[in-house]
Amino acid sequence: MKTLYIFDVDDTLIDTKACIRAIDKDGNTVFRAGTKVFNAPDSTERLLQPGLTWDFTEFESLEQIMSEPKLPAFEALCRAVQDDEFVIILTARQKWVMLHAWLVANGIDFPIDHIFCYDRSSKLNVPEWKGYVTRCLCKILDIKKVILYEDDPENIKSIKKECEGITVEVGSIG
Ligand SMILES: [Mg+2]
Repeated sequence: MKTLYIFDVDDTLIDTKACIRAIDKDGNTVFRAGTKVFNAPDSTERLLQPGLTWDFTEFESLEQIMSEPKLPAFEALCRAVQDDEFVIILTARQKWVMLHAWLVANGIDFPIDHIFCYDRSSKLNVPEWKGYVTRCLCKILDIKKVILYEDDPENIKSIKKECEGITVEVGSIG
């Protein structure tokens, strides 16, 4: 049976310490929010006051991601690649070139076109987009089983919903 392995990055492969910064109209950082706070339900509405914008620069830095502690799912990624499984990275991050450099620096020979990054101008929100990409890949590649490493329950729910008729197994992220 053809299986697709999907790995999220933040708080799945790594215990993310990078922060999103709230910036005022003069370009000053008003506060920083970690991924656990930022991804909490309704956090954007709660935290983002009028006149502030989010800055994701820390998520675009190779130096920053190299310093992030790895979680057990990272080992699962290495194993899946070694076993020649069909593996993709599916992330709300933007910089696939940087993510590729990070994987290569960790000794993982990973095809750059297997890294799927969210486009913030998308009409879909992140869970919808993750579900959509998964559904399309399963259809194109005739995948019958997905093994999903993902920390966000909303993303898991959306992927399962989009993949009716496909077995979606959620891997332990430790
Ligand atoms: Mg995540």
